[in-house]
Amino acid sequence: MREEELVDELLAGAGDACAQASDGPGGGGVVLGPGDDAALLAPPAGHTAAWSVDDHIEGVHFRAAWCSPRALGRKAVGAALSDLAAMGARPAGALLALGVPKGFGRNEARALGLGVGEKLSAARAALLGGNVARSTAGLRVSVSVLGWVPAGRGLLRGRARTGDALFVSGTLGLARAGLLHLERGGDPREELFAPAVARLLDPEPRLALGETLAARGERVACMDLSDGLARDLPRLLAASGVAARVDAERLPGPPADLARALGETPAALAWVGGEDYELLVAGSHELEGCNDLRRIGCVVPGPPGAVRVSGEFPGARAKGFDHLAP
Ligand SMILES: [Mg+2]
Repeated sequence: MREEELVDELLAGAGDACAQASDGPGGGGVVLGPGDDAALLAPPAGHTAAWSVDDHIEGVHFRAAWCSPRALGRKAVGAALSDLAAMGARPAGALLALGVPKGFGRNEARALGLGVGEKLSAARAALLGGNVARSTAGLRVSVSVLGWVPAGRGLLRGRARTGDALFVSGTLGLARAGLLHLERGGDPREELFAPAVARLLDPEPRLALGETLAARGERVACMDLSDGLARDLPRLLAASGVAARVDAERLPGPPADLARALGETPAALAWVGGEDYELLVAGSHELEGCNDLRRIGCVVPGPPGAVRVSGEFPGARAKGFDHLAP
């Protein structure tokens, strides 16, 4: 099978998400979708382009045994869109590059395209183009996403200040609970673990929250939690030149029975767990309850990036997930 045929299957699978033209905020948007040498986009008036790329590599970011091509399409796009959420950007479109091993054929390309299209459509974003090349190793999915953020209102990491409250959205540690369950040979359909497995395989980018924060126009620092609070929080703090205190009892971990079944605690899962794609925000105390932001601590003076976790719990010093770790 030729690589062009696989691209055709991929785009066919994505269906309606392959918009030839669509409007963005303020009159800009997609001028030309897939099919030519490049897509064309018009920046909407008063907006800046937010642009990011994310990779999913078999054996590093996912295992083929757990992740069907359709699920992989959803996961890869969900993770990439999360970076736009973290900037406060509204998604416009995505480019997809696949490295495919032997055995990845027409059906797999169409199924992966279906997952990609579903996730992009849900975010009102378009698939703008795709490329397929042969891979001598495993499957590799690279997703580049583009969005629009009101000029001057992008949510940067370096804006935290001493005295700010620290917030996270949603529940942390669910994806890690799903990962531990699957690694131990658990059944993905088991009722207790179903929400955790769903979070691992099908992350929901916090786009509405990001847009809401950008629209407020206040000073906030923001990033998405891809590698876990233990690794990501120091990155935000270092970018801002500040330190933080975190209250372990406030960490919004998974339900206690779920954690117990894995021999973990909710707080430890919440602290080290990666791939939740929730947002971490530092800013005014009045943000409490904005969408579902929950306060977990505060920003304090100290060595940039330093974190003190109050209340000891197992794993408090454990590091989050690092894709580059040996
Ligand atoms: Mg990110």
